[in-house]
Formats: sequence, C-alpha cells, structure tokens
Amino acid sequence: MDVVLHVGIDDTDSLLGGCTTYVAAVLVEKLAKLNVEFQDYPALIRLNPNIPWKTRGNGAVALRVKTRVEHTDKIKCEVLRTVESLSQPGEDVDPAVVFLSGAIPNEVKRFSKMALYDFLNVDFALKTAGECGVEVFASKSLKGVVGALAAVGEELQDDYTYELLTYRTDNYRGMPRMVSAESVFLMDKVTSPTTFNNLDPETKRILITPRGPDPVLYGIRGEDPTVLLEAMKIVNIYEPIERWVIFRTNQGTDAHLKWMENPKDVKPYRAVAFKAVVCGKPHVIPGGHVIFKVAFKNEVFDCAAYEPTGGFRETVKKLIPGDVVEIYGGVRPLNGAMTINLEKIRVVSLAKEVKYFNPKCPKCNSTMKSMGHDKGFKCEKCGFKDSNMRKLEFETSRGIEPGLYIPPPRAQRHLTKPFSRYGLEKKNVECKFIDFWHVP
Ligand code: ATP
Repeated sequence: MDVVLHVGIDDTDSLLGGCTTYVAAVLVEKLAKLNVEFQDYPALIRLNPNIPWKTRGNGAVALRVKTRVEHTDKIKCEVLRTVESLSQPGEDVDPAVVFLSGAIPNEVKRFSKMALYDFLNVDFALKTAGECGVEVFASKSLKGVVGALAAVGEELQDDYTYELLTYRTDNYRGMPRMVSAESVFLMDKVTSPTTFNNLDPETKRILITPRGPDPVLYGIRGEDPTVLLEAMKIVNIYEPIERWVIFRTNQGTDAHLKWMENPKDVKPYRAVAFKAVVCGKPHVIPGGHVIFKVAFKNEVFDCAAYEPTGGFRETVKKLIPGDVVEIYGGVRPLNGAMTINLEKIRVVSLAKEVKYFNPKCPKCNSTMKSMGHDKGFKCEKCGFKDSNMRKLEFETSRGIEPGLYIPPPRAQRHLTKPFSRYGLEKKNVECKFIDFWHVP
C-alpha cells in the first residue's frame, strides 16, 4: 500500500551558516534515490516575519512524498540523519522535524494559518501535533516545532509563487558571490514580471543574491517554473553550483497580513492590517525614521516607516490628521506602547488641508489686521474697517494621491506582495509540476 508522507523541517541554521532550504535541497537528492514519488515541489513557507528569534526570513520547509508504507521508516531515518548532519551548531539552533502520513487534518491547517501572522507557543504546537497524529523530533527548546508543523500544514492552495534556489559548493561559502550583475539586469528585463524582485529599482542593487555566509548562491522568484529555468540560463556565474531546486512558496503573497476589525487584536509580534485615521502629524526621528499616530476605532497606535524604506518615507511624511488609511505591518512593542512597522499603506481618502490668509484692504490693497475673533478686519494703513470680513481660505495641494504605497523591493519582507504581482495572483490555479525541477 502507498502512503503520502509529509515532512516538515525548521530551525537548522544560524547567522554563521546553513539554511533550512539547503537541508531540503539535499533531501530531495537523497529521497529521489529512495525512489519516492514527489507530490509537489518542496514548500518554502515563510512564517510570521515579526518573530524576534528568527534567523533571517523565518522560513520553514515541507516535503511531500508518496511511498510504500513499508518504506516510510527508511525515509524518516534518512531525513533525521540529514537534518542532524546539516544543522548548524549554536545555542539558538533548535532543529525540528515533523512527520505526518495521509491527509492533513484541519487543525494542522488552522495552525499554519495562525503561524503566518501570530506568535505561537511550543505547547500549542505540541498539543496540535499530538492530537493530529504528527510525529515530532526536536531538540533543546523545541521552538523549531512551531515552524516545522506550520510548514507541513500549509498546502499553498491560495495564491503562491515559486523560487529557484541555487547552492554554492562548500569551498566557496563565506566568500563574495560571483554572479554577473549585468546578466541579472538582462534576466530581469527578459523575464519580469513573470519573475519579481530581482533588483531594487531605486538603488539598482541586485536582490537575487543573499549577503550572508549561507550556502545560497542566488534565488530567482517568479510565477512560473519554466520561466525560472529560462532565467537561470541567463544568469552568468563564475563559481560552480553544487545543486539547485525549485520550491513552491508563499513569498510575495501578503498571506501573513491579517485583517483586523478590533483594535484589541493588534497584539505584539502579530502581522496586521486595519483601517485607521491619521491622528498625529508625521515626524522624523534620529536615524531618519518617520513616525506618526493613527486611531483605530478607540485606540491609538504609532506607525513607523524606517529609514531603509527609502522613498516610501516621503509619501508617509505627507500624511496629515484626518487622512483615512489602511495600515499593513508588524506590531512591535516599544516602551510599553505598540508601534506598527509599516510594510505598506493604502491611502483611502485625504483630508482637506486649508491655509488661512488675512484679507487685502479693498481700498488700498494692504494686508488687513484682525480686530479679534469674529470681529472683522481693519486696515492699519488707510483706516478702513469691516466687521463682517473673515479670513480667506485656500485649499492646498497635498502632493499625494489616494492609492497603495509599498516600500522599495530592497526593504520588503519575503511575504510582502510587491507591486509587480498585483493582478498576477493565483486563485484556484493548479501547480505546474514540471519534470526538471532539481539537480541532482
Ligand atoms: P532561515 O529563513 O534562514 O531559514 P529563519 O529566519 O527561518 O531562518 P529559524 O532559525 O528557522 O529562522 O528560526 C525561526 C524560529 O521561529 C523557529 O524556531 C520557528 O519554529 C519559530 N517560529 C516560526 N513561526 C513562528 C510563530 N508564528 N510563532 C512562534 N514561533 C515561530
């Protein structure tokens, strides 16, 4: 009898090296040799980006394979051996692996959806796993179980994207990545918007190469696996590739931003979205960050557009009290209050900004002076008085239009849906599972 085995893995890397996607890529090679039937690309699931102890992008992975029931133990042993040998040493590295056979229970699916925006504890993960027949293998604090279980439960049935990840050979890791910038510009020109966030238009920075000591050489994100293969052919590199794999992922989908109707649900470390009214003028604080206040029903929150969001801050600076906005971002507790780190903002409607001027004297054209509140104006030059005169009102141009504003790609979270993906969302689009999706 055949069975589908779902494998979830998380927390294998540290800032000094490793990457959970690399563990998955090695496992793809090893499991292929065990003659399993892959049910899907490996899943790269990005979880709540506001978890304080994440290493980088809070990514976890899941593999889904069909195999003979009697082979599952062999597969599990291979997975556990590989995770153990590739997990990085370090205090904060708490590798976790979960196994689930058959259909994914609704409780696990619900857990995954919550892990996208909420801050979940290990006990909840263990309880859910226990109730749903999920086997858990984890060490130390067990915190990796949250990500591993969440990865298994996210089947990417709503919007999704792909990422083709290439990995460096051991002897090149830690050295500058030898990828031709011109070829990345060309690849972007030829393949976007079917690929996205290859470059940062404001700074011309290449975004497909990470900057740390991890084994990733580059990753190309996109809508279609065949176009990713084309894109890989265009990118020129001057170092060997150890392996490459196409992942299916929730990157670039906004899957994490949870729409809130009640301000009480805006809790620390959540990823939130809500409608609010600007109630404090934006101001710049040391470091170039822009802060302003919004009222969400009866509660007031600080919102922050940080310095790395570049030109996005210029838009935010133009907001004034009374503007109606949709706020999208992560909740950060700061000095007893909660600040929303902005990931995007939609200006729904703009308040009128009015400037007032004293009227000119109808007799001599000098600027008149007020005689007191509601008491009219007098001309100090010619003595003309009019108790019915009032200040003149002028509506000023706001220099900002209603619409959606997103920080530049270099400052976006992995999960943030970039402008280029609007209109390309996949709704009920079956995944295109091509044959040539990994080497070796
Ligand atoms: P990389 O992206 O480079 O693979 P990372 O940023 O994913 O690294 P990890 O080392 O995996 O970082 O650490 C993230 C930790 O946070 C894991 O232990 C994971 O289980 C946990 N975690 C993930 N999502 C949540 C959540 N919603 N609530 C609580 N803990 C979470």
